[in-house]
Amino acid sequence: MSGASLSPVLKQATPVVVDHAAGSWIHGTDGRRYLDFTTGIGVTSTGHCHPDVVAAAQEQCTKIIHAQYTTVMHQPLLRLTERLGDFLPDGIDSVFYANSGSEAVEAAVRLARMATGRQYIVTVQRGFHGRTVAAASLTTAGTKFSAGFGPLMSGVATTPFPDALRLGMTTDDAVDHALKEFDYLLATRLSPSELAAVVIEPFLGDGGYLAVPPAYLAGLRERTARHGALLVLDEVQAGVGRTGRFWGHQHTDGLVPDVIITAKGIASGFPISAIAAPEAIMAKAWPGSQGGTYGGNAVAAAAGVATLDVIEREGLVENSRVRGAELLDGLRSGLAGIDQICDIRGTGLMLAVEFGDPTANAGGPRAIEAARLASSVQQACIDEDLLTLTCGPTGSIVRLIPALVVTADEVVTGTERFVRAVRRVVE
Ligand code: PMP
Repeated sequence: MSGASLSPVLKQATPVVVDHAAGSWIHGTDGRRYLDFTTGIGVTSTGHCHPDVVAAAQEQCTKIIHAQYTTVMHQPLLRLTERLGDFLPDGIDSVFYANSGSEAVEAAVRLARMATGRQYIVTVQRGFHGRTVAAASLTTAGTKFSAGFGPLMSGVATTPFPDALRLGMTTDDAVDHALKEFDYLLATRLSPSELAAVVIEPFLGDGGYLAVPPAYLAGLRERTARHGALLVLDEVQAGVGRTGRFWGHQHTDGLVPDVIITAKGIASGFPISAIAAPEAIMAKAWPGSQGGTYGGNAVAAAAGVATLDVIEREGLVENSRVRGAELLDGLRSGLAGIDQICDIRGTGLMLAVEFGDPTANAGGPRAIEAARLASSVQQACIDEDLLTLTCGPTGSIVRLIPALVVTADEVVTGTERFVRAVRRVVE
């Protein structure tokens, strides 16, 4: 045997091989020190290797690593459930666990279908929910997530996103338009009595770092309640402080969803996800219908408890709001007047710079050119020792996802590096 190599199906965004990392910084085996504005796609919320998270995981490793939560219960999961309850909306009091965002989405679809006895899931255009079959069936953030992979799951319909930028409308008009389209879907494609759930991210992630207008979420809440369907919020990327509130949906006053899915930032990098809903909804699913071998792993759960403790003690939700506003200001002033940029947006530490004409035909040459620009900027950032990622259905958006522990100095450094990278590409 001469050894194996990593499959090319894993498309690498950077050539960096990590030696070690701490806080907002990744030290490569190339001897360079990179400012990490990717955080493992919004995962390392408390920064890389936060000492409290490391200590909690190390200590748990000496007690039990894998306790299989349907065989023997373990203390970290009981504690994590109690702590999550401190952050969940009133009434969302029942939780179970999986390993990843995709698995949690699958579980939420299963739960919604069982709890309502209905089949249809409606999802929003440009949404990203993962790569497993049900999750990919709900995903319209780019063809690469499902091309060549079908046929996908049936019983899924997609409704337009109120995308004011692309529709060339005010946000109010875009919301009005999208809610009418939703009503139209229920008058033409499926009956309201067949609707099990609407699944939506409160901020679109991989689909383009777009805030979902509160009036749209409120409109979906009203409609799902009226039709006896569930509103499932995929908080996998937007949750856990990312947008300057603990949950992304808290930007919509008074909104209480039926199901919340969380993963990524909840355990600072350990694989664990959670599905939360009122006990009355959970009780409608068969016992044993959910769960898995590794779900709710003891070390991951211990890291999750430490993560929530750190987020609270260090005021990281507030830091996300304040540092995010500084980063947005810095980007807007540093990048002002660059014609190739059509939008600079962000809420908390979920920020994006979009290139090209947002109304360009998705498959056309102008969209391809915008994607080339975004990709060149992301690569130029690497030369500046700054790690970023692209996103959006056509790849025309560069997203910046700093750790929630990012400091004011790091925001300045990141802004300077990003602005230099953009200017090198466009000038
Ligand atoms: N939902 C959302 C909103 C996500 O951002 C992601 C991952 N980017 C997923 C689901 C899937 O999570 P995972 O990659 O952990 O399966």
